[in-house]
Amino acid sequence: MKNHYVDELPPIRPHVTDHQCLDVACARCGLVTEATLPDPAPSGAYAPSVQAMLGLRRGELRQSVRQTSAVMTEVLHVPLSTGMVAKTQERVCRALARPHHEARAYV
Ligand SMILES: [Zn+2]
Repeated sequence: MKNHYVDELPPIRPHVTDHQCLDVACARCGLVTEATLPDPAPSGAYAPSVQAMLGLRRGELRQSVRQTSAVMTEVLHVPLSTGMVAKTQERVCRALARPHHEARAYV
């Protein structure tokens, strides 16, 4: 018997959650109550896993904004323009600033 192994990547498709926030008007007085996002929903369009992948590519892997946009869009199928890469990178930098400073205190 002879084994022949072939490694293959599964198709990569992002998991998209559609949060539908419906505003409702009171039938008696007409007051509109605006819906809010459920608590664990991220405020931006990209979940922490997408932000982390972007941070890895821009930081550790030193990919350009254009390369990061291409990989996220064409390989991972998460549409990210170069402008959104830059904007999301700023968000990741802000989120990591405090833990970064705390970690440096121990190095
Ligand atoms: Zn009412």
